[in-house]
Amino acid sequence: MAQLRDDPSPEDDADQAFLAEVRAFLDRALTPDLRRAGRETTGVHSEIGAARLWHRRLFARGWIAPAWPVAHGGAGWSARQRFLFDRECARNDAPVLSGSGVRALGPLLIEQGTAAQRARYLPAILSGADLWCQGFSEPGAGSDLAALSTRAVRDGEVYRVTGTKIWTTGAHHSNRMFALVRTRDTGRRQEGLTFLLIHMDSPGLTVTPIPGLAGDHEFNHVFLDDVPVPVAHRVGAEDDGWTMAKRLMALARSNNTPPALVRRVLLRTARDMAAMRDRLEPSLFHRLAELQVALDAYEALELRTLPTGRADAADPATPSMIKLIGTELHQQVAELALEAEGPAAAASLAALALGLAELDHGARVTAKHICVRAATIYSGTSETQRNLIAGRLLRG
Ligand SMILES: Cc1cc2nc3c(=O)[nH]c(=O)nc-3n(C[C@H](O)[C@H](O)[C@H](O)COP(=O)(O)OP(=O)(O)OC[C@H]3O[C@@H](n4cnc5c(N)ncnc54)[C@H](O)[C@@H]3O)c2cc1C
Repeated sequence: MAQLRDDPSPEDDADQAFLAEVRAFLDRALTPDLRRAGRETTGVHSEIGAARLWHRRLFARGWIAPAWPVAHGGAGWSARQRFLFDRECARNDAPVLSGSGVRALGPLLIEQGTAAQRARYLPAILSGADLWCQGFSEPGAGSDLAALSTRAVRDGEVYRVTGTKIWTTGAHHSNRMFALVRTRDTGRRQEGLTFLLIHMDSPGLTVTPIPGLAGDHEFNHVFLDDVPVPVAHRVGAEDDGWTMAKRLMALARSNNTPPALVRRVLLRTARDMAAMRDRLEPSLFHRLAELQVALDAYEALELRTLPTGRADAADPATPSMIKLIGTELHQQVAELALEAEGPAAAASLAALALGLAELDHGARVTAKHICVRAATIYSGTSETQRNLIAGRLLRG
């Protein structure tokens, strides 16, 4: 049987000292319940109670946003230390956190927000008091995001916002939403959009669930009916929201499927396959070994191309490349787990959906596989990423 390595690179003395500190913290802070929540994660983040608790523990330790500048609450770690930390969290089944605040909006506000916006929103992102969701997609605007039609009309010191957002992940847990809205109809479609920070308890805003394929509730419709949003909650200039949204995607995209997330699923799959080794085809173990090699390469690529840990510092095609490779690899690992588990896994998810069974291991493997199908759709589909990379190559 292929032996699975989870240690792609040798560690030197400085790494050892850092890792000892991280391991001591994880030993203390990760209770059995938190580890179970991490292990049982099938969606984009762990069960919300566990995710919130883990967020608060990381915040208390000063490690919730390691990649932010130290002046704003970052940990001052190198890219390699951040990589080692993520890998250690994955090995120890730490809960997976929702990333819209820490990974996406925070870095954008640090770079593009006003002093008042930074003072108001960054501390609440760090502490976990604010949970953010992303209001970009609409029923008529997905890959072609510039087609969006949610309208914001200026009325003195507020915009009045009306329209519908769709697929809004975590809107039902969030108290804040960053959104792209239309403020002008003339000229290029991209030039009439504005980036707003919307409070979810504003009058006229309603959230309704969209059930997922695995029976889960992760995403939502968000309906906006004449919702007042202070002009002071605009990031960037009016009609310059496209620039802000592109910047946010560049800052966040490389981290959407960090290697540690894939490693977490690969390690679990390897453990499960080892327990079933007598009844599995040898070809499945060959695939496991190939995926291990591909994951090592993905980790090396991320470390090499993102030395500062920021996608935007590298070639403009890099965020697309990393997103594409990471999400497709994630799917291949989830597919292998499903094949190893066999048809009984799908049957147990069906039994669960009919209320005939509890969530067992097989159902979880199937649910994970279904949820990971979405990874090549959200944050820009694989076709969109390939178009961006091709465009970059053609322009030289
Ligand atoms: C699990 C999940 C969570 C999501 N969370 C959020 C969220 O929190 N906030 C948010 O705003 N949105 C979210 N989305 C929406 C997501 O961003 C969109 O689904 C995505 O942008 C694709 O848009 P669409 O679904 O309208 O598909 P379409 O754009 O209609 O695409 C359909 C198919 O056509 C292909 N295609 C489209 N245009 C081209 C082209 N020019 N060249 C080649 N192929 C093309 C696409 O790749 C895709 O395969 C989420 C989606 C999912 C699945």
